[in-house]
Amino acid sequence: MRAHPAGPRHADVVQERHSSGPPRDLNTLDPKVWPRNISRGPDGEMRLAGVDVRDLAATHRTPVMVMDEADFRSRCHDFADAFGSAAAVHYASKAFLSGEIARWLDDEGLGLDVCSEGELAVALRAGFPAGRIAFHGSNKSERELRTAVDAGIGAIVVDSYYEIARLAELALERADEPSRSVREAASRNGSTATLEPIPVMVRVTVGVEAHTHEFIATAHEDQKFGFSLTGGDAAEAIRRIAACAGLRLVGLHSHIGSQIFDPAGFEVAAHRVVRLLADTVTEHPELADTLTTLDLGGGLGIAYTSADDPTPPDVMAKALADIVSREAQLAGIAVPRIAVEPGRAIVGPGTVTVYEVGTIKDVVLDGGMVRRYVSVDGGMSDNIRTALYDAEYTVTLASRTSDAPPMTSRVVGKHCESGDIVVRDCYLPSDIAVGDLIAVAATGAYCYVMSSNYNRVPRPAVVAVRDGADRTVLRRETDDDLMRLETW
Ligand SMILES: *Cc1c(COP(=O)(O)O)cnc(C)c1O
Repeated sequence: MRAHPAGPRHADVVQERHSSGPPRDLNTLDPKVWPRNISRGPDGEMRLAGVDVRDLAATHRTPVMVMDEADFRSRCHDFADAFGSAAAVHYASKAFLSGEIARWLDDEGLGLDVCSEGELAVALRAGFPAGRIAFHGSNKSERELRTAVDAGIGAIVVDSYYEIARLAELALERADEPSRSVREAASRNGSTATLEPIPVMVRVTVGVEAHTHEFIATAHEDQKFGFSLTGGDAAEAIRRIAACAGLRLVGLHSHIGSQIFDPAGFEVAAHRVVRLLADTVTEHPELADTLTTLDLGGGLGIAYTSADDPTPPDVMAKALADIVSREAQLAGIAVPRIAVEPGRAIVGPGTVTVYEVGTIKDVVLDGGMVRRYVSVDGGMSDNIRTALYDAEYTVTLASRTSDAPPMTSRVVGKHCESGDIVVRDCYLPSDIAVGDLIAVAATGAYCYVMSSNYNRVPRPAVVAVRDGADRTVLRRETDDDLMRLETW
């Protein structure tokens, strides 16, 4: 059974396979799948924001991950416009984060979600304002919580009773030492700050698990995250937070899955969280002024192939706003502010991975069909999603175009593992040759961040392109990097 991003219950759901036959023209770049600023140049070469992939490969070696900066920024705008404010959009840094990305997000006014001390450290080092960061995770350590609180984090999304106790303890400590904390806060804000309570949200499991075209709605959820809604844990967590003067409840949070195309799952989740919000302000009227955010998480899907049809952010935003305001009115409470946490939908589509073809092998299958194995100079070390999630990708010849007939192909990596597949089923022109560059679309999310040094293969460079120029965001690993942990 394969691991699955939406959890084990979905692992036995047979995924649709796209058996649509070869596209009419293998050289076409479907705008749904490829970055917004992509084109073919005079030699048929792929150009990203005007930069020739052959030059990128020569400068940065291959594989290289190329990010269309304007694509990234335009998707930030799309979400900000759809949800009415940039601050309502919290980019999920687990999809991909570097100092450069954190600066782009800061420019665009978005919020940022982190789920470890490491992600938090990168964001803070890049100068991202702590007040716009939320901290997630099912097992935050005392040290992580302290670091986040000391930095002036925007919100801690609490996920367990242990965490509430840890935060309450931390709040007491701060109260015992008010002079130091207040001084630090004041020097940070340049103000005469008083000791503010720690802002927290409660992560609720709403019993909705969504993935692509289907969702499952139950009364409970068999997973590690959050407080159960129906089991009463969410209400109890809220009670414990409300009882602690050093904590301030600012929102309720739910996150239902990943790569979701259908708004219906979000609607069921929104419905259930608004109900909890209404119950909460009835039980704790004193919270009504500060408990104003309904965070519906991330999970908005993107097109990995031309067969994928994700819901655009504005359509999703409208559906959510409608259901939340309707439910709030029914419950007689103020309409909460909706927040969302897209990762993949912002960073995924604007990045391509460029590989060089190293070997080509034709394998005759039962029935006489031939599958061409095209081996590239990366693989599961820079993109584990195909092996891990059975993910589908679109690939094209990038250093030139070709009019040769399509050939049933499989793009595989250089690792010592037969599961090392980058694109399981694709068509490439039959004249594909060693030394050609090929590009895989939509690799911006959950590829680099899950990369490894398996077989001691270095991680590729990540390069941003914009207006005809390229800039290294993360440099390619060197031999020294591969040996930096050795004690010899
Ligand atoms: C993973 C995750 C996200 C982002 O998911 P995407 O599918 O990349 O949009 C947002 N919020 C939480 C809590 C997550 O765990």
